[in-house]
This record gives sequence, C-alpha cells and structure tokens, in this order.
Amino acid sequence: MKELPSQQIIDILDCAAKMEVKAIDWLGGDPLLRSDWFELMQYAMDNGLKNNLWTSGIPLENIEVAKKAVEVSEGGFISVHLDSLDEGIYGKLHTGDPGKKIRSILKGIGNVQALGKEPQNMINCITFTKLVAGDDVKKTTRYFFEKLGMRTCLTQMCKTGFAGEHTDWIPVIQDIKEACEVRDEVNYATSQLSMSTMDANKFYCGGVICVTIDDDLTPCSVIRKGFGNIYDTSFEQAVEDHKNELLLTDLRDPANLPGNCGVCEHNSVCWGCRATAFYENGDILAADPRCWRNPDNYPNC
Ligand code: SF4
Repeated sequence: MKELPSQQIIDILDCAAKMEVKAIDWLGGDPLLRSDWFELMQYAMDNGLKNNLWTSGIPLENIEVAKKAVEVSEGGFISVHLDSLDEGIYGKLHTGDPGKKIRSILKGIGNVQALGKEPQNMINCITFTKLVAGDDVKKTTRYFFEKLGMRTCLTQMCKTGFAGEHTDWIPVIQDIKEACEVRDEVNYATSQLSMSTMDANKFYCGGVICVTIDDDLTPCSVIRKGFGNIYDTSFEQAVEDHKNELLLTDLRDPANLPGNCGVCEHNSVCWGCRATAFYENGDILAADPRCWRNPDNYPNC
C-alpha cells in the first residue's frame, strides 16, 4: 500500500501548526491501517491541532484501537463509512463479507460511543450512488440519527476514479434531491437552510486543503487535479503560491457565486459541490450541475 512517508507528514503538521491551521482531517483508504497513525495524530495534538478521523469504522471494532481513536480525536470528529445496512446492496459496493463488515462497523461505533465519543461528534459518510438511492439511503440516514445519534454526510459519486468503471452508479438529480431532502429533514430539522448536494457546508468546503498520495495539493479530497505540489516545495510555500484555487477565494465574494447561487436563499451556507462542477463542467468555480434548486438543472424546482 502506498503511503505518504511519516517524516513528510510530520513536516506538513509542523507547517500547518505554524500557519495556525485548526484541524487535520485524516483520510484514506483508511488512515487507521497505517502502523504509525496514533503517533502521528498524537504529534498533531501536541502541536495544537485537532484531529478529524475518517475511517471505514472497521478497525474500531478492536477496543484498543477505539480507545486510541477517541483519545486523539478529542475536540474533533470521527467519521465512519457505512453506505447501506442492506447486505445485498453493501456487498455490491464493497469486497469481502458484507454482513461481517456491517457488524464490525456497528460494533466499532458502539465501542467509541461507550468510550465517551459524543454521537454529535461522529458522522456516517455515505458515498451516494444509484445503488443506495431511494428507500435505502433514507433508511440508513434515519437509522443513524434515530438509533445512534449520528448525522449523515452524503458524498456524491462523481465521474472520476471508481465511477469510471460504474457510470451507471452515478445518481440522477431526482435521486440526489430525495436523499438530500431526507438528510435535511432528519439531521437538520430546525434549520431553514440546506447545503443542497454538498456533503459539508461551504465553510468546511472552502477551508480544506487536501494533500494526496502523489504530493499534490487539491481543494477537495474528491478532486484529483493538483494545484501545487509539495515534492520539492514546503507545504506552506505551495499553499501561498496557490491559495486562491485551494481555498476557493473567488467564491467567497457573493458577487462571484455561479449561476443561480447568487440569488439562492441557501447561499449563506452553500455554493454547490465543487467536485461535481469540476468533473462535469471542467471548471471548479462553475455552477453545480446537480443542484435541484437551480432551475437551469431542474425546471420543476
Ligand atoms: S443554487 Fe447554489 S447556493 Fe442554492 S442550493 Fe443550489 S448550489 Fe446551493
């Protein structure tokens, strides 16, 4: 398995602390499969950074791993990844024994919650595909909130990576509308605002810089086009050289919001999914082509 070398990660953490970055999101694959994950996250904590952990949830089945994960994610969140509670659907999306994996993830959630991780500081991340569209994603979203106290993050499958072999898995706009409306109704019942197709609001989206396994910097973990590279430049310098693209600074001015976003009642929290705009329109700053609140995409909205 290809991994960023430990020393390179430490160098990034040093730069991040110096730049007054607030939190490090650890994604993979599964970051808990690294042999040095705990030491690296402890190092981040010791340097004043919070750790947000995006794991499949399976390693948390081990109580010792769960204890360490709770310890280093203090002040941050733990995200698990359970696309579906239905073994038949889950088995189409993931290799291995679906029943065993689902039970492992649920046991892992039970472990970290029993160890004191507050459910509101946990998320279930669903890669939103055609396979879970309809009743299944609604059931999973409700189960997580009502039974486990956890909100759901819906990451839209884009025309990249795994989706290249499964273009029929890419959901249509009606699927996305139904899933996101249930997410909003169940998870954000008291809010009048919606993030639409986004899996996080625009403040998270515009405040994240991703370092890929190839040393590229990208504005989003789904977008694989690099804006700067840290192979022979420091993280700090690469960010300085490309901060407008990486931090989407153009979109921070409401006058620059694309398409319908400029007049949308939700634009205080939303500017549409940048990965979808990039992969479908070739422009990271373009209007989200899958937002059902935009009459250009969905005339019945
Ligand atoms: S029109 Fe823009 S701001 Fe409004 S919901 Fe859609 S993507 Fe978000």
